[in-house]
Amino acid sequence: MHFVKVRGGEDQVGHYIGFVGKGGRMVAGKKGKGDAPSFKALDWTLAKLAAGALPETLEVWHQGRCGRCGRALTDPESIETGLGPICRGK
Ligand SMILES: [Zn+2]
Repeated sequence: MHFVKVRGGEDQVGHYIGFVGKGGRMVAGKKGKGDAPSFKALDWTLAKLAAGALPETLEVWHQGRCGRCGRALTDPESIETGLGPICRGK
């Protein structure tokens, strides 16, 4: 079982939206956000992955951690380079 949080807002705090259930689909449960666009988007993506029909226009990125300081990387450029914006400048 994988619990799912979505980062957002200025504080970039992860907000719980649900978990990936046994069938490989999203489950909101009691505290999840089944009506959130992020929940619906991930559930749709998981269904496409399971069917082997992931659209070429959809990119899947890992969250990753900075190779220098170990902090979570949150933006695509940092994830691609493996370094956060502060560590990239050093
Ligand atoms: Zn760093």
